[in-house]
Amino acid sequence: MFSELKNILKKFVPFFLGVKLRGWYQIFLGLWFKGNKYDCPFCGHSFRKMLAGGENHPVIYQKHIIGAGIRENIQCPRCFSKERDRLVYLYLTQKTQLLSSKVRVLHLAPEGALRAWLKDNKFIKYLMGDKYESGYTDYYYSRDVGYADVTNLQYTDNEFDLIICNHVLEHIVDDEKALAELYRVLSPGGTAILQVPISYDIAETEEDRNITSQEDRKRLYGQFDHVRIYGYDYPKRLEKAGFSVVRFNPFKEGLAGIAQRYSLNPKEDLFIGLKN
Ligand SMILES: [Zn+2]
Repeated sequence: MFSELKNILKKFVPFFLGVKLRGWYQIFLGLWFKGNKYDCPFCGHSFRKMLAGGENHPVIYQKHIIGAGIRENIQCPRCFSKERDRLVYLYLTQKTQLLSSKVRVLHLAPEGALRAWLKDNKFIKYLMGDKYESGYTDYYYSRDVGYADVTNLQYTDNEFDLIICNHVLEHIVDDEKALAELYRVLSPGGTAILQVPISYDIAETEEDRNITSQEDRKRLYGQFDHVRIYGYDYPKRLEKAGFSVVRFNPFKEGLAGIAQRYSLNPKEDLFIGLKN
């Protein structure tokens, strides 16, 4: 009922006014949840709790898919950053010098908080793109995001020093082609953040190109537009495309305190592909 009302409102409220209204709503939420337990590095505010979120399909819990399912405290009430954005932030700021030099960055399906933060950095040359699949980008999706098809990128070889392709590959039927493209446009020495939802209950990635209905995908893969569940073999897929794989888990690298403040999941490793 509430979401229907929201959809009707969106139809009649002009975009600029909608953005303004949402801004006020976020200020209200930020004040409502204000506290000392969690921090958001993007908006700089602290909260007693964050917003819950995620999809609720049995397969997610049966296979313990990390990065999926209903989770408490995942979304910042003030700027709507998610835990996946804060994990990338932590990696980039604590483990790399990438953003303090003149780097070329490609951000695919760009998340709002990360996008605003990267766009603000005058050092970097920042490009972003999305394929605009239906049901995926919402009403508030930034109007300045360009078009990009990860299986057929319009960029030249070795064009980017950093690629952020976060929670994208599980949507792409031909992920082998996507990985080849990402590898191609990454510069030698470059870094690609290739995070996906993953289950360590399964040795081999589960996928079937004949599964195409939204209902079946929800039942088997945990979301209407996911085309697989990545398993234990995920790093091997990255290696096959040419990447050297690095895993970053802040809880195992002396960053547990800050990771807890960002409300990150101790079980979640960030997968990073390097081009040597
Ligand atoms: Zn925030």
